[in-house]
Amino acid sequence: MTSPVTYTNPELVQDTRLGCTVQLPLGFGPVPPSRKKIFYFDIDNCLYQRSTKIHDLMQLKIHDYFKTHLELDDKDAHALHMNYYQTYGLALEGLVRNHKVDALKYNEQVDDSLDLKSVLSYNQELRNMLIRIKKTHQFDCFWLLTNAYKNHALRVVSFLGIGDLFDGLTYCDYSESPIVCKPMKLYFDKCLSITGVDNNDLDLVYFVDDSEINVKAALKLGWGRVFHFIEIDADYERILQSDDFGEYYSQDNSDGRKITILRNILELESAL
Ligand SMILES: [Mg+2]
Repeated sequence: MTSPVTYTNPELVQDTRLGCTVQLPLGFGPVPPSRKKIFYFDIDNCLYQRSTKIHDLMQLKIHDYFKTHLELDDKDAHALHMNYYQTYGLALEGLVRNHKVDALKYNEQVDDSLDLKSVLSYNQELRNMLIRIKKTHQFDCFWLLTNAYKNHALRVVSFLGIGDLFDGLTYCDYSESPIVCKPMKLYFDKCLSITGVDNNDLDLVYFVDDSEINVKAALKLGWGRVFHFIEIDADYERILQSDDFGEYYSQDNSDGRKITILRNILELESAL
C-alpha cells in the first residue's frame, strides 16, 4: 500500500531551506479512489529550463555508454543511439531488448551520474508560485509525472527546492520490460489509476509538460486542462505553423478546452 517517501540529497545535506529534502506523503501511490482536483507536473525541461542543457549532458552520457558497453566508435555509437531513440522512444529500451543491458545499472551510469548541482539551483519564484496555485485554485493534489527513473526525479526537485510541494510521484520503471512511458496511453491510464482518479472526473485533471507528443496525447485522452511549456522560439514558430494547430491549440490561446501554451513556466499561474 501507499507509504510516504522521504529523500535527502547527499549533495544538499548542509542546505536546510524548505523543499531541499523531498517529502512525498503519498509516495508512489496507489491512492484510494476519490473525486479530486489534481495537477500533474512533468519535471525535465518543464520545472527547469531546457537552457540548463541537462538534456545535452544526458546525451553525452548515453553516447559514452553506447561506446563503452557496446565497444563502438563515435559514428556507430551515434547512429545506433538515434536508431533506438526513434524506434523505441527511449534509447534504453533498445539496449535492454537487443543487448540485455541491466536497466538500473544503466540508469546509475547515465541519469544518476549527471552533475545536476552545477546547473540547477533553488528556485524561490517557482516555489512561491506553486504554493499560491495550490491554495488559490484549491487543488487537492499535486503529482509529479516523469519519464525518468525515480532517483533522477527526486534529485531534480530537491535541487529546485520544491521537494515538499508534491503529494506523490509516478516515474518510469526501468526495471519493467517493455518500459511503459509517456505518451503511451497505458502510462497515462496507469497514472490515473494509481492516483485514484476516475475516468468520469477527467474535468478535474490538470497537466503541464514541455513535450508536444505528451500534451497532445493527454488532450486526446480527455484530460481537463493541458498546458504546453514551449521554451524555444523555433519550436514555438513551428507549432504555430503546423497543419494540425487548430485541432490542438486555439488561435488566441484562451480556449481552456484546448492546449494552453506557456512560454515560461512562471506564466502558469496567470494562465489558470
Ligand atoms: Mg519534459
